Amino acid sequence: MNNIIKLHDKFFNLFITDEKINQAIESLVHQVHEDIEDEIPVFVGILNGSFIFVADFIRKYPTNCEINFIRLASYEGTISSGTVNQIMGLTNDVTGKTVVILEDIIDTGNTLAKIYDIFKTLPVKQLKLATLFFKPDVFKKELPIDYIGLSIPDRFIVGYGLDYNELGRNLKDIYELKTENMKNIILFGHPGAGKGTQAELLKERYQLIHISTGDVFRFNIANNTDLGRIAKSFMDNGELVPDSVTIEMLKEEVNKYRTANGFIFDGFPRTISQADALEAFLAEKGEIINGMVALEVQEDILVQRILERGKTSGRPDDQSEEKIRIRFNEYENKTAVLKEYYQTKGKYYGINGVGTIDEITDRLKNVIDNL
Ligand code: 5GP
Repeated sequence: MNNIIKLHDKFFNLFITDEKINQAIESLVHQVHEDIEDEIPVFVGILNGSFIFVADFIRKYPTNCEINFIRLASYEGTISSGTVNQIMGLTNDVTGKTVVILEDIIDTGNTLAKIYDIFKTLPVKQLKLATLFFKPDVFKKELPIDYIGLSIPDRFIVGYGLDYNELGRNLKDIYELKTENMKNIILFGHPGAGKGTQAELLKERYQLIHISTGDVFRFNIANNTDLGRIAKSFMDNGELVPDSVTIEMLKEEVNKYRTANGFIFDGFPRTISQADALEAFLAEKGEIINGMVALEVQEDILVQRILERGKTSGRPDDQSEEKIRIRFNEYENKTAVLKEYYQTKGKYYGINGVGTIDEITDRLKNVIDNL
């Protein structure tokens, strides 16, 4: 048995042996069979990941049963889109029958919500759900899970049907992703300081995921997600979106990238309470913020830059010096306290943000390489 394996560009450590998986399945079979006794259940596996679990589960199942599969997907490449679609449906008639869903892993619960949506319209006698693996720290939905094989921490795992970018499904044990090199950076600075431009270059250089709060808001509102609707209701009334909503959106976004090398947060956190929430959220994953890297530019230079940008950006708030100064005041009042917050932790790195794009990128790299 190999303790460390490599799939594509990533290393994984042995985490759960096949023996332990086997015991968990035996216990699941026992609980399900005790509950439904001599009825003939329809076991429905959720493809692709559950195919091995289903095969092992039903071979241990002591009485007659039917098997069916549905296929759901939330991934485009390796990135979860956050919306789950049904790609292949049921072929068995489940009218009046006891259906037991067999899921390989439940993480955020988005897939589970879709499963309940599909089955609530079907005339089944009763619906039960068993999952082999469950991540309680990430699961935030109020949906029932009847049987749990093994609860695991918030780690990305492969093996026993689960893949990393299509590899690893054939491993008989479970392996967890090695993430000790994760780099999480907050890119900080006034509006117009060049954060967007630099974030694009840094994400290429360090293979990080760039999370721009503005983009996350626009995505949620455009896709009419639950959180998008809540955010919009505040915005429509001219009110600020509460921190709790912004934080939830950010968490969902981060959770989409289960195998990331790290993140560049841009436009977040904006308040101390957001910073505290981010820290606590990363701590659950065994991660930290490595540093706040700030592009420091004098206000007068920024005003000129933004007015220049306003000639082509079409943004009305880029075209008047008065409006720009109002944005700066707001920044000073609310966001600048974060500088102190990270300074106290010894994690604030100010960088001269005046110069050519390349010069500024080099200054950033000097700091980030040493984080
Ligand atoms: P959820 O919708 O609960 O966030 O995630 C469910 C789906 O995401 C699973 O069916 C699985 O495809 C994928 N997933 C969640 N966590 C992991 C993990 O740790 N490893 C792998 N390989 N896939 C995962």
